[in-house]
Amino acid sequence: MRLLEINNLRTTFDIHVGKVQAVRGVSLHVDEGETVGIVGESGCGKSVSMLSVLHLLPDYAEISADKMVFDGTDLTQLSPKMFRKISGDQIGMIFQDPMTSLNPLFTVGQQLIEPLRIHKGLSKKEAEKIVLEKLRLVEIPDPESRMKQFPHELSGGMRQRIMIAMAIMCNPRLVIADEPTTALDVTIQAQILDLLQNLQKQLGTAVIMITHDLGVIAGMCSRVLVMYGGVVVEEGSVREIFYEPKHPYTWGLLHSIPQKSGKTKKLQPIPGSPPDLIAPPPGCPFAARCPYAMNICAAAMPPEHVLSDTHKARCYLLDEGAPKITWEGNRE
Ligand code: SF4
Repeated sequence: MRLLEINNLRTTFDIHVGKVQAVRGVSLHVDEGETVGIVGESGCGKSVSMLSVLHLLPDYAEISADKMVFDGTDLTQLSPKMFRKISGDQIGMIFQDPMTSLNPLFTVGQQLIEPLRIHKGLSKKEAEKIVLEKLRLVEIPDPESRMKQFPHELSGGMRQRIMIAMAIMCNPRLVIADEPTTALDVTIQAQILDLLQNLQKQLGTAVIMITHDLGVIAGMCSRVLVMYGGVVVEEGSVREIFYEPKHPYTWGLLHSIPQKSGKTKKLQPIPGSPPDLIAPPPGCPFAARCPYAMNICAAAMPPEHVLSDTHKARCYLLDEGAPKITWEGNRE
């Protein structure tokens, strides 16, 4: 069953030097219990898209969408109070850096109890019982003592577990995880990803995983959206994106991660920088960095080519009569 559906989401930041078009017509859906990945480099619009859905952007952000429906409720028509109720109860968010998300002046227990009292109307005692349950679920040892500690007294991995406990506190239907492992070292990253996977299986929660790391996508997600310059340039199942990618930007991402082949192969960075989103190019956002760019690419946004029930890509190379190029980059 469809849990979240967004069509043509646009987010613009009105700042002193102009209007930054951070999200330019993003559409996506998430089904119950599904894990969907959004991948792309910094500034591509992946986090801003989700923060737009949750109304967590500053006042100078202008957000519009043709459709934004969560579990049958049109999010664009809700009063701020109703929106807070739905998003607080049913959508949990895990942020990248727990140290900046947790309040340093309050104990962990105080911060975890508060959402339950606000959203569920529970007494302090009832809320404490649930908090202890959730802390055990996210494998926090000695949760009674941890509740009395301040964030700075905990390790980075432990703080991220607290953030995960906070995100699942009200039993949400959807958890949005924004680069949940980026601020952690590699061994703790693996533990946190395992924990998220186990929780997802146990609780049946849908997850949107925002990341720049294709390794995280491969391990956790069933579908992936690849974003560039505020636009979804390719979307598909994990198998389609990893084995039959069709967009040169996705090829670039795949060429820039280490392979497990055992052979030493030089990683290929994507040269150049992302487009200026104050005056985004009228054509393909990747044109300035794409080794296969043609004249038409700079003129107009490429159409969305539907390649299967789950696979779509925006690239003129998919037009009939365009040069045939394989994802390894060799002209056929
Ligand atoms: Fe490259 Fe053109 Fe395809 Fe954009 S539309 S990715 S510039 S070939």
